[in-house]
Amino acid sequence: MSRVLIVGAGLTGSLCACLLRRELQSKVQIVVWDKARGTGGRMSTSRAPDTSSHSADLGAQYITATPAYARSHHSFYSELLSAGVLQPIHCLIQGLRHKDGDQDYVTPLGTGSLVKHFLSESGADVFLERHVTALYRRGASWEVERTAGGSETFDAVVLTMPVPQILQLQGDLRNLLSVPQKQQLDVVRYSSRFALALFFSPDVVFSFSWGAQYVSDSSVICYIAADNRKRSADTPGLGPSLVIHTSVLFGLEHLEQDKEDVKPIILEELRRLLPDLPQPISIKCHKWRYSQVLTSVPDCPGHMTIVDQPPLICGGDAFSHSNFDGCVESALSVFSTLKGMLGVQQSA
Ligand SMILES: Cc1cc2nc3c(=O)[nH]c(=O)nc-3n(C[C@H](O)[C@H](O)[C@H](O)COP(=O)(O)OP(=O)(O)OC[C@H]3O[C@@H](n4cnc5c(N)ncnc54)[C@H](O)[C@@H]3O)c2cc1C
Repeated sequence: MSRVLIVGAGLTGSLCACLLRRELQSKVQIVVWDKARGTGGRMSTSRAPDTSSHSADLGAQYITATPAYARSHHSFYSELLSAGVLQPIHCLIQGLRHKDGDQDYVTPLGTGSLVKHFLSESGADVFLERHVTALYRRGASWEVERTAGGSETFDAVVLTMPVPQILQLQGDLRNLLSVPQKQQLDVVRYSSRFALALFFSPDVVFSFSWGAQYVSDSSVICYIAADNRKRSADTPGLGPSLVIHTSVLFGLEHLEQDKEDVKPIILEELRRLLPDLPQPISIKCHKWRYSQVLTSVPDCPGHMTIVDQPPLICGGDAFSHSNFDGCVESALSVFSTLKGMLGVQQSA
C-alpha cells in the first residue's frame, strides 16, 4: 500500500484525495496535513469569535460555471448539486459582470462544505495544525518535517499550498527544482486582501435588498455580501452576517500592517457606504496574504512534477486559475500524473 501525503486541506488537496481514493481504493493510504485549525483553505467558512453557531465565508463567495466548464466538470457539479452542497444562486448580486450562459452557485452551508464533502468522500486521515517545514528525499520515500517537531515518511507527496509557501520549504526541494521550474514558480503573483465578517443579533433586518454587491465608488472596499442571504441560509434565531472584501490596492498598501490596525479603517469606510447599518455583536478580521492568483505558472500546466520517484508534485490554483474550476483542473492533473507514478512504484 502506498502512503501519500497531501499538504493542504483546501479544494485542490481535498479533491486530489477524493480522486485517489475513488480510483485506487484500498491500494493507497491518504494522509492530509494542514497548518490551519480547520479545513477549507481559501474556501473556509469561519465561525464568529464569540458564538459557535454564527459563520461566514471570508474567502471564496460563489462558484461560477462557464458553459465549457459546466460540460467538462459536469460530474463534479452534478455530484455537489445532488448532495445539496451547491445550489443555484437566488439573490441579486449588484454589479456582477456576467457572461452569457454562466451559471452561479452558492453553498448553503458555506464554501467550507465543498472541501468537507471531498475530504469525507476520500476517507483520508486529516491532521490539522500540522505545518510542514521541510522535505528530505530518503531513498524511495520522502521524510516530511513539521513545526511542532518530528517527521514522518511517505511514498509520495503532493504540495497544494500557494507557491510562495512551497518555495519557503526547507530541505531538498529547492535543490531539486530545475532552473526552468524555478523561473516558472518565481513569476507567480497573488493579490492580497483583508476580509471582515460582521455578525448581527437576531432582531436585525438589513434595509437593502441585494445579497451581494461590487462597490465601485470606494478605494478601500470592493465587495460586500449579506452572507446568509447570499447563501439562502437564514437560520431561525440567528442574526444576519455581512462579509466585506477590501480592494487589491488597499490590500497591497496595508499588507504588512496588523489586521487589527487595519480593521477600523475598513469599518469607517463601511459606515460611509452603509450609514444605516446597525452595530454588529461581533467582528472577525482576516488577512489573505495570498488571495487570488494574478499571474499563474506560465502555460497553466495544472501541476508541476518536481521528482518522479518517489513522487513529489505541486498543484493548486496557481497552476491553473483561481476559482473552483481552476482547482478542479489542477486536482485532475495532479491525480492523473500521480496515479501513473504510483502504478510504476507498485509494480517495481
Ligand atoms: C477573498 C477571496 C475571494 C475569492 N472568491 C472566489 C469566488 O468567489 N469563487 C471562486 O471560485 N474562487 C474564489 N476565490 C479563489 C479560491 O478560493 C481559490 O482558488 C481556492 O480556494 C484555492 O484552493 P487551493 O486548494 O488551491 O489552495 P488553498 O485553499 O490556499 O489551500 C492550501 C492549504 O495549504 C495550507 N498550507 C499552506 N502552507 C502549509 C504548510 N507549510 N503546511 C501545511 N499546510 C499548509 C493552507 O492552510 C491551506 O489550507 C477567492 C479567494 C479569496 C482569498
